[in-house]
Amino acid sequence: MGIKHIHSKQEWEALLAEGKPIVVDFHAVWCGPCKAIAPIYEKASEDTANANVTFAKIDVDEVSDVTRELGVTAMPTFILLKNGSKAGEVQEDEFSAGVVGLSSALFLSDDPENQVTVVAKFMPGDFDIEYTSPWAGANVLPMAAEADSRWERRTWEHLRKLTENEPSAGIHFQNTRVYRRDKDAPEYPSSNFYDALFSKDPWYKTMFDGYRELGGRDPRRARLGLRIHLTLHQHANLPPWLASRCLANGVVFKRAVVKHVADAAAFAGGSSSGSPSSSPPPPTIVVNATGLGALKLGGVEDQSMVPARGQIVVVRNEAPYMIATSGTEDGGVEVCYAMTRAAGGGTVLGGTYDKGNWDPTPEPNVAVRIMTRAVELCPELAGGKGVAGLDIIRHGVGLRPLRTKGVRIEAESVASPDGAGSVSVVHNYGHAGWGYQGSFGCAERVVELVKEIQSAAKAAAA
Ligand SMILES: Cc1cc2nc3c(=O)[nH]c(=O)nc-3n(C[C@H](O)[C@H](O)[C@H](O)COP(=O)(O)OP(=O)(O)OC[C@H]3O[C@@H](n4cnc5c(N)ncnc54)[C@H](O)[C@@H]3O)c2cc1C
Repeated sequence: MGIKHIHSKQEWEALLAEGKPIVVDFHAVWCGPCKAIAPIYEKASEDTANANVTFAKIDVDEVSDVTRELGVTAMPTFILLKNGSKAGEVQEDEFSAGVVGLSSALFLSDDPENQVTVVAKFMPGDFDIEYTSPWAGANVLPMAAEADSRWERRTWEHLRKLTENEPSAGIHFQNTRVYRRDKDAPEYPSSNFYDALFSKDPWYKTMFDGYRELGGRDPRRARLGLRIHLTLHQHANLPPWLASRCLANGVVFKRAVVKHVADAAAFAGGSSSGSPSSSPPPPTIVVNATGLGALKLGGVEDQSMVPARGQIVVVRNEAPYMIATSGTEDGGVEVCYAMTRAAGGGTVLGGTYDKGNWDPTPEPNVAVRIMTRAVELCPELAGGKGVAGLDIIRHGVGLRPLRTKGVRIEAESVASPDGAGSVSVVHNYGHAGWGYQGSFGCAERVVELVKEIQSAAKAAAA
């Protein structure tokens, strides 16, 4: 367990001679992304599930001969070696390192027949307005109507087991109160009722242990129809954990910006560098999980993608329970929730759900309103001292990838930009505010679609 630092070709050859599977992180001291992903790699090396794999690190400037031999030209590059050789050919090319893409990569790589490469502009450890996943709370509070509840139901099954059995995933259960205000109900003209979470007699009431209607009227907030769930949880630590599990499955990670969805196929084929290889092995299937990036990505350019801007404040104070309300007195785009992240991640106070707003900068007045609403709803959060009792870690803005036509999970054949051929693409994007709580359910569907393409290819070749 732990990481073995290789300082020379001799040490490298000695490691190969041990005959165990090896994952190597090729890094450089001057490489920012290498530093960002280092803690994730370290965590993966300590995971007991990876006990049969040796985790090694090579500084490309220090051990340049081995770096050259393995064809590494970009940092960071991760390679899995089995019996001294790069493991297998790359067949699935997973495109994106958000929670949606990483979940798909993990589920695909659980099948040893598949070799998966993750190609992304941003990776876990990065914070950028083009990368939604790090900004999420992120919790499981169902939003879908019953007819569309498959993704959330299936994901809950996986996440519940993960929470119970895998402490390293950094997920925890949290008691929750969901406040339903009558004035937000659909029958009222000024309704801001924004999702199925607040419906009466919801489909998910049997999904969670300990669901119960509180009923009555809460005198402090003068709201009707309060209720409480027990054992909901949140899991913002999920992407780094998913990346570590992917590494252990032999997934290759590459940093790149892809201009056209069909171009992503060229990153498959076992090349460990950040550059496309010249001849990808068939059949290569591209999984497009680019979130809001689908708006501008060549070959996709989905004009129904819009941002649903979410502003948050992260504080050190702990919330006694997770909270969500159906509306606020501060206008249609402002919402109110609080959730304490697992593993010391702070408490996320929200927020806003502002469709079409691209502004990446936190707005101070909105931040004040977010904090005021949170302490009003839950005075215990700040020890009864109001906003002054909040200990702020940071302000943030994330853009939820909203597809106005609904999430896109489907396969299609996309012509390459030069018209020379076509590539099989499985789309998985447009999860708006439920990318975490629907991630694993959607990944299951991606696996089904990939299998259908593989079977059709086999049948055609027979
Ligand atoms: C404030 C806030 C609160 C939220 N709370 C919750 C919650 O409580 N529960 C919940 O389930 N969800 C929540 N969400 C929503 C959730 O965060 C998103 O649904 C989810 O993160 C979307 O993930 P994704 O992988 O599709 O997109 P992203 O995380 O944006 O990942 C997209 C990936 O694609 C890559 N990419 C895109 N285009 C290209 C390109 N051309 N070339 C190379 N790489 C590219 C990016 O670099 C990135 O790696 C919240 C979101 C916000 C902003």
